Amino acid sequence: MAKQLSERVLNMATSATLAMAAKARELRAEGKDIIGLSLGEPDFNTPDFIKDAAKKAIDQNYNSYSPVDGYADLKEAIINKFKRDNQLSYTPSQIVVSTGAKQSLANVALAVLNPGDEVILPAPYWVSYSEIVKLAEGVPVEVRTSIETDFKMTAEQLEAAITPKTKMLWYSSPCNPSGSVYNQKELEAIAEVLKKHPQIVVVSDEIYEHINFRGGHVSIGSIDGMYDRTVTVNGVSKAFAMTGWRIGYIGAPEWIARACNKIQGQITSGANCIAQRATITALDAQVSKIQYMIDKFHQRRDLVLKLLGEIDGFQLNVPEGAFYVFPDISSFFGKTIGGKKIENASDFSLFLLEEANVATVTGEAFGDPNCIRISYAASESELREAIRRIKEVLS
Ligand code: PMP
Ligand code: GLU
Repeated sequence: MAKQLSERVLNMATSATLAMAAKARELRAEGKDIIGLSLGEPDFNTPDFIKDAAKKAIDQNYNSYSPVDGYADLKEAIINKFKRDNQLSYTPSQIVVSTGAKQSLANVALAVLNPGDEVILPAPYWVSYSEIVKLAEGVPVEVRTSIETDFKMTAEQLEAAITPKTKMLWYSSPCNPSGSVYNQKELEAIAEVLKKHPQIVVVSDEIYEHINFRGGHVSIGSIDGMYDRTVTVNGVSKAFAMTGWRIGYIGAPEWIARACNKIQGQITSGANCIAQRATITALDAQVSKIQYMIDKFHQRRDLVLKLLGEIDGFQLNVPEGAFYVFPDISSFFGKTIGGKKIENASDFSLFLLEEANVATVTGEAFGDPNCIRISYAASESELREAIRRIKEVLS
């Protein structure tokens, strides 16, 4: 039969992070010694105290559908977490638990966007934002930032990007891919601009909240005038090393939370019951229980900055959170290295894969064609070896 896929899926790019991870896996299966620095996934195991909670839940026969928006006691744990860490006060009807923060984001886009609605994405942004927005028939509007402003959007840039069609602003802090962290003053300036545009909903993706080396995470929803228009997105994938458990959640104005619940009721019926039980234990825990992972990421960040800083042509900001560096490598464009012409960041990333056997992700997928993303959620020895190889092939 004629293979007639929808415009929706034809217009959607494949996730560059997952595609690169798959390519690295494929090459490894062929016997190549690939170091994978493409995927943003902690290389730690889920802590034992969380695994124990999941085992207990299985033995207690948690095997039925949960409420679509999550178990009541998990929502209670999320409410306590938002109060404790973010000065955000929610009621249970404002919380929706989903199959990863990725689904939380997709729910919100589907709930709020009409065809043609514009969504401002400070670039670089996480790969899936633009594609989720397009899937919901919204229009991504990129606001380019650069290494000079630590990859952060200024209030002036936001103001200039707003049109009568702007419906949402999406950003992550700490940012994937730049590691930048917005401080109170910067978010207040953004909030000040938004005051004049009450139709704009903010999606604040805080999934890297705990992986913050400077401390002082700020949720924009806690800033004066922002609570009623902010969706705070979070999850357990990153800080608790629980990527495969697939639990994300939102705290949102009730009208948005209800709509997300309705969508989810038709699409997944709710998140995995065992993972939800384990998430209660994760969120109730003191951050001190996961501090060892954060400390390791911090050490690795310093190591990677030092080693990459020794390579000519890598321009770096100092990421204050998450586990990525996002070097500007545009100084290599137009050069021929080892017989290969580097025209853009995709060529550069492919060159590193083929010549150095190191998997990274092109910045183009994140809305910044001058950079590549390197994840340092890998062991110190892998990081050292990967950067040694990169240095070797470039020299
Ligand atoms: N937001 C950002 C910024 C991310 O890096 C990720 C990583 N996967 C997600 C959301 C989604 O996380 P998950 O679906 O695993 O909860
Ligand atoms: N968020 C991670 C990354 O950016 C995981 C992969 C994904 O979900 O796209 O690499």
